[in-house]
Amino acid sequence: MLIMITMKGGRTFELEAVLPYVRKDASASALAVWRGTCRQCGAPFEVATSTRLDVIVKSKALARVHCDEHKLRRRPKATPQPSEGVAAATDHLTQIIITVVPDPDHHR
Ligand SMILES: [Zn+2]
Repeated sequence: MLIMITMKGGRTFELEAVLPYVRKDASASALAVWRGTCRQCGAPFEVATSTRLDVIVKSKALARVHCDEHKLRRRPKATPQPSEGVAAATDHLTQIIITVVPDPDHHR
């Protein structure tokens, strides 16, 4: 089974793994690991989130668009670009499409 999240603008994150995770209070939980691609160079990168959809939707984890390299190179200029900065940060919340594709190799 393939699970994808399509963000507003058509960028997609593919669910790569769900990992067991133990919280600080020792209760069991899980982390979802999503794979996205860098907007600048196309390199894949991973983002870990909660497995709870309501948490994912509210978090900005999947608003990430750059690989580690290009994320680090982002210039720390104080003035955010009005067209992309704030608008894009909240814009992604308005449209998330979850696509669940049955595994074509699964015949049983
Ligand atoms: Zn990159």
